[in-house]
Amino acid sequence: MTLGFAANNLHIRSVIVQGQILTIGTELTRGELADTNGAWLAAEMLACGIEVTGLGTVDDDEGRIVEAILRTAGLAEVVVVTGGLGPTTDDLTAACAARAAGVGMWKDAASIEAIRDRFRLVGLEMTPNNEKQAIFPGGAEVLPNPVGTAPGFAMAIGRARFFFLPGVPFEMKRLFLDHVAPWLRSRRTGGMVQKVLRCFGTGESNIGAKLEGVEAAFPGVTIGYRATFPEIEVKVLARAGTPEEAEALCRAATAEARSRLGDLVFADRPARLAEVVGERLRKAGKRLAIAESCTGGLIAHLVTQVPGSSDYFLLGAVTYSNESKERILGVRHETLEAHGAVSAETAAEMATGCLALCDADLAVSVTGIAGPGGGSADKPVGLIFLALADRSGKIVHHQRTLRGDRFRIQMLAAYVALRMVLIACGGEGLR
Ligand code: ATP
Ligand code: MG
Repeated sequence: MTLGFAANNLHIRSVIVQGQILTIGTELTRGELADTNGAWLAAEMLACGIEVTGLGTVDDDEGRIVEAILRTAGLAEVVVVTGGLGPTTDDLTAACAARAAGVGMWKDAASIEAIRDRFRLVGLEMTPNNEKQAIFPGGAEVLPNPVGTAPGFAMAIGRARFFFLPGVPFEMKRLFLDHVAPWLRSRRTGGMVQKVLRCFGTGESNIGAKLEGVEAAFPGVTIGYRATFPEIEVKVLARAGTPEEAEALCRAATAEARSRLGDLVFADRPARLAEVVGERLRKAGKRLAIAESCTGGLIAHLVTQVPGSSDYFLLGAVTYSNESKERILGVRHETLEAHGAVSAETAAEMATGCLALCDADLAVSVTGIAGPGGGSADKPVGLIFLALADRSGKIVHHQRTLRGDRFRIQMLAAYVALRMVLIACGGEGLR
């Protein structure tokens, strides 16, 4: 009996609140508008320790909205809904919530006054249809909207707590942060912690294979993947009875994942490779120059997408023709004649020539065949040569045969170049 109680108690402590998100609007279902509310809410709810188990969208149709509310009510303990709280005839959410809950509607005098005040604030007269925004389902708790006219509301439908928020993103965010997030945090019964590892150098399936068995070795841990080519984010999510236990579990599982992935990992936070390269350059006090051929300026673009890159990036030269390789970078005519533009020799002279053009400490170069045409038996599409030169006269060479279409080959070549820079700045645990 005692044992049973203890086990049961432990189970209750480790229950994680599950949530659903429902976004309403025909603009969304027609593809005219991307559901940024849903994505934002999913991340915020996760940060509050809620496990979002589903995210759905429904058009402005009364029957389908009621059906979606009832369905999500059966799937989660908390549901956040956005959209359709405005004054127009296509704003049906409050009436649908009342229908789903089987309750009537009531007019909130305080909300009417608040709406009237907001109109006064912007020098307008409130039109009668705006009173619609102050009509709520019976039993609903009004969530005042300090940044817009439509208040939100919260109520129970089935076994779930529903939060209805406006569709306008900044109003939705304000109401979520003011009213929903505190409630969600107060409901957190267990702990949930997520850590991320960002990888480059192989595909998602290979990463998955390397991490096989980690979930089984660490009960309570789930591993997720998100690919933003060519980077792959590994998400290690740990659930446990308390936030402290979840933190310890997540830390242990992440350490295991990291050791298995080895030098594929370039960051243990959601950062792009170019950001990490920038940090390393800044930390090492080194400045970079880039000589590009087949990547057409992509490496320089990735580097300069990072704010503050002028601290360490000095010069990028896109030398697409043989003539420009000679005239701008000083690649020797004989080198091009003897070895061709796509060769280790040309890459090396591009890097040293680029270094000679400015005060940089490091210069990286890439030359290759991005395709789809231009390949041959001994120099196929995807063949790239890279070189990295520093002030000591040292040159690091790298050669790869990349696969994919033109876009993928160019992007992968740029990433290989960035990783060479990272290693040159002392990127520990990286090849
Ligand atoms: P309003 O008082 O403006 O009518 P509302 O609560 O009725 O607000 P909607 O009419 O559904 O909200 O949406 C208003 C606007 O908010 C949309 O035109 C759109 O620009 C934006 N919006 C609504 N839903 C989303 C969403 N899921 N993601 C991103 N933007 C959205
Ligand atoms: Mg509307």
